[in-house]
Amino acid sequence: MAIVKKKPRKNKQLSLKLAALILPHIALLKRYYPEAHCALHFSNPWELLVATALSAQCTDERVNQTTPALFKKCPNPLAMVETPLDEIEVLIHSCGFYRNKAKNLKACALTLIEKHQGQVPNNMVDLIQLGGVGRKTANVVLGNAFGIASGIVVDTHVTRLANRLGWVRTENAVQIESQLNELVPQEDWIMLSHYLISHGRAVCKARKPDCSHCFLEQTCPQKGV
Ligand code: SF4
Repeated sequence: MAIVKKKPRKNKQLSLKLAALILPHIALLKRYYPEAHCALHFSNPWELLVATALSAQCTDERVNQTTPALFKKCPNPLAMVETPLDEIEVLIHSCGFYRNKAKNLKACALTLIEKHQGQVPNNMVDLIQLGGVGRKTANVVLGNAFGIASGIVVDTHVTRLANRLGWVRTENAVQIESQLNELVPQEDWIMLSHYLISHGRAVCKARKPDCSHCFLEQTCPQKGV
């Protein structure tokens, strides 16, 4: 007979306590940021994949200034493969780490041609095998281009706010995603990062959180602030 291990009661109590903290926070975030959305400009999964790859260590604003010319030159993976590496480097130069990013974009485009008929796959397993694509990029693409709630996008804003709000106690993005996936209803996975990013930009800023004007102040433990 198979032995089923019971989860420790302590963990369950902790999860219930955390859920009681997180769910009202999410309800307030939803109310205050009804317009929250993906800040990157895109019109199809390929463009979002490229824009998200460029956004590593770069602002969304800068990426949005860069992508119109890049998308014109490389509207699909085949065009990216056929464009010389140095031309891509020039086009994305202002996004930083342009050599690596250009190399990854070319590798990613080639894999899309060779293995996916030039289409961006709509599943995590295939996405994270593309050049330079990790879970964060895959979650962004799946959530925002395909409407698939595969997981919660964890960037610097989400990391900072989830810790300050007492939702998690780690800076490790994989652990944060896994813990939040357990606690947050799946229907909120796609939007949660947009709410937190909006709040991180407007109020809970990295250097100086404006706690006295924050609608979460009464229930936020303000960890590390
Ligand atoms: S109360 Fe302060 S630390 Fe908490 S979310 Fe608001 S601004 Fe951030």
